Amino acid sequence: MGARTNSPHRRRIEVPLTAMAIAHPPILSRCREVLAGGPTEAARRWKGPAIGCFPVYSPVEIFHAAGALPIGIFGAGGSVELTHADARFQSFVCSIAKSTLELAFQKRLEGIGGMVFHSICDVARNLASVYRRNFPDLFIDYIHFPQNPTSSGSLDYTSAELERVRRNISVWLERKITDDALRESIRAYNRSRALMRRLYQMREESPERVNSVEAYQLVRAGTLLPPQEHVELLEAALADLERRAVKRMDRIRVIVEGAFCEQPPMGLIEVIERAGCYVIDDDFVAGWRWFANDVAETGDPIRALAGAYCRQSRPSSVRHDMTRPRHEDLAKRVREKNAQAVIFAPAKFCEPALFDYVLFRRVCEREKIPHLLLEFEEKMWTFERARNEIETFAESLLFE
Ligand code: SF4
Repeated sequence: MGARTNSPHRRRIEVPLTAMAIAHPPILSRCREVLAGGPTEAARRWKGPAIGCFPVYSPVEIFHAAGALPIGIFGAGGSVELTHADARFQSFVCSIAKSTLELAFQKRLEGIGGMVFHSICDVARNLASVYRRNFPDLFIDYIHFPQNPTSSGSLDYTSAELERVRRNISVWLERKITDDALRESIRAYNRSRALMRRLYQMREESPERVNSVEAYQLVRAGTLLPPQEHVELLEAALADLERRAVKRMDRIRVIVEGAFCEQPPMGLIEVIERAGCYVIDDDFVAGWRWFANDVAETGDPIRALAGAYCRQSRPSSVRHDMTRPRHEDLAKRVREKNAQAVIFAPAKFCEPALFDYVLFRRVCEREKIPHLLLEFEEKMWTFERARNEIETFAESLLFE
């Protein structure tokens, strides 16, 4: 759906940020502190080994069970100048790959002894190799997830791959990773994922209760905290948010899709809401809330993680599932969540997201779901154009 601009009926639906943040739960200040500290501060606080996890999904339980803190590395969010990484990648590559590499060149991953990458796209594959070549002292692993997770051999294959990762981590840290420790870590991350699902449920039911930036910060903090601390933070935040006095605004309910790897600037997330939308679902930080329900806490823990990957993963552009096409799943979510529109927010040059956009758009057109494309990159400083487009889009639905 094309966004109309300069409509004679345009009315600014802006809600001042101060109004959006009324009765700001104090726990969110803690959350912002954690985010401001970033990966190095997270590693320093942990006082043990830390391993960086490039998006999207990483089997964090294996690292955690080895006594290492898994830390989400989502690039530099526009905070570094590229002085080395540009020379190692083509110009038409997403920002997250380049800035993740730059972080290591500029020694801004202090305290992080290893990095894990996954088979999500060619860029991530190359990034793993470039890291290995340039930083031989770092532990580097690359996880090959199955191309077809629903085939009959996928469970055995994924279990073998995760066992290989367990062995590698064990050798690196010179520490045995027991099944008991793994089950304990599965329990810990299950709890934090369940609370994140509750947060998203809250947004779906009453999006005025928690704005998108707050929800994003609450989830993103989990990529820098041990799961037990994230659970405490989420429990406190959810209790505060339940009590928050709120008033529903005149906005459209949207699903944001496409930002599963590189993360949109916080300013863009804020603008989507301020320009007239309630974001009732999205795929931000998707890998850290990857499962639709709990991973099995009993039995063989590696098999449980592999089974969860093959059978309980969320639909994603980096995970092909013949039995559950992700574009059909999007249409289903729109219906079930009573969304009025979809905003596609792929990172610039993100092939998995941009290839899928064609399929998503086709299904939106078939189902007559209004949609808007909003590409972003890390170094996006001004949001005026995005704001105008979203405002026009939202108004066209509110006042049609
Ligand atoms: S943003 Fe897209 S292209 Fe870049 S590493 Fe992530 S999935 Fe790959």
